[in-house]
Amino acid sequence: MDARPTQFRVLAFAAALAAMPVFAGCMAEAPPEELAGEPEGVESPEPTDTVDEAVAGSTVAQAAASSCSTSSVKALSLQIIAEARCLNPDAYVPITKTSNVTFGSAVFAYLEKPAADRLVAALKDNPGKSMTINSALRTVAQQYMLYNWYQNGRCSISLAAKPGNSNHETGLALDVSQYSTWKTILTNKGFKWLGSSDAVHFDYAGSGAVSYKGLDVKAFQRLWNRNNPGDTISVDGVWGPQTEARMKKSPAGGFAKGATCGSAIMYDDQNGEIEGVDEAFSRDPNDPEFFVPLPIDAVEAQGELEHEACTDHAH
Ligand SMILES: [Zn+2]
Repeated sequence: MDARPTQFRVLAFAAALAAMPVFAGCMAEAPPEELAGEPEGVESPEPTDTVDEAVAGSTVAQAAASSCSTSSVKALSLQIIAEARCLNPDAYVPITKTSNVTFGSAVFAYLEKPAADRLVAALKDNPGKSMTINSALRTVAQQYMLYNWYQNGRCSISLAAKPGNSNHETGLALDVSQYSTWKTILTNKGFKWLGSSDAVHFDYAGSGAVSYKGLDVKAFQRLWNRNNPGDTISVDGVWGPQTEARMKKSPAGGFAKGATCGSAIMYDDQNGEIEGVDEAFSRDPNDPEFFVPLPIDAVEAQGELEHEACTDHAH
C-alpha cells in the first residue's frame, strides 16, 4: 500500500521544486563520459560547458543545444528516477556510502538491488582500497543529451547508445576509475568488466540480475502524460518518435507535477537523494502498474547488451 504524504512532505516537495531552477543552472559539470581505450587514471577531457542560468528554464532540446553538461537536466532526471522507483522499488536502489567510495558530483548513485548489494559488500570487504564512481544510473533524459551530442558531433561524444538502450539506464552499469584495483574483486561479486575498449565500465551479471530496460522511458512517458493531459502518448517504455518529440519539449528544470506512487508524492532533496521512500516503497507487485523486469538472458539473447557493449562507449 502506498502511504499518503504528510503535510511536511508536501511542503518539502514544494521547497525542492522551488530550488530546482537554481541548482539545475549552477550544477558542476557532469563527469566525463568514458572514451574507448583510455589508459587508467586519465580522465576524458570534460566537454566545454556553456550551461548558464537560462538553461534551467529551457526545454531539454534547448539545453542539449546550448550546454555540454547532462547536469542541465538533473531536475528532470530526479523526477524520472523517483517515478521509476514508484513503478518498481528494486530497480534503482541507492548505493550505501562507505568511507572508501567517492561519487562524482553529478552521479546518481543508484543500481538495481542485487548489484547495489554486491557492490557495497565489495567495498566493505576492502576498506583499504578507494573507489571513485563516475557514472552509475543514467536517465533517458541524460541519454537523450548524450545521443544528441553524438549525432551532432558535439561535446566530445564520439559514440552513444540510443536513449532507452544504455545499460546505465537499467541500473546495471558502473564506471570505476580505479578499475584495475577493483577488477578481480568486482568480478568475484558478479560484475563483468567490459574490457579495454571501455576500461572503466562494469556490468552486473551476477545472481539476481534482471533487466529493467525501458523503465526510465516508461517513467518519463508517465510524467509527460501527467503534465500534458491534452497531449498524451503511449506508456510503453519504448523510445520512439513520439517520445523523442516530447522529450525535446520537456522542461530541463523538471515538470510542475513530479513523481507519484499512487497518491504519495515523491520528492528529492538537493543532493539528488529521493525522499519519502520508506512509505512509498511498498509497491505491490500485483499492481498492474508495477514494472516487471525482463529476465537478463532474454535481453542478452536479443543481442542488445552485446550490441551495446561492442559499439557504444557511453554504455
Ligand atoms: Zn559506462
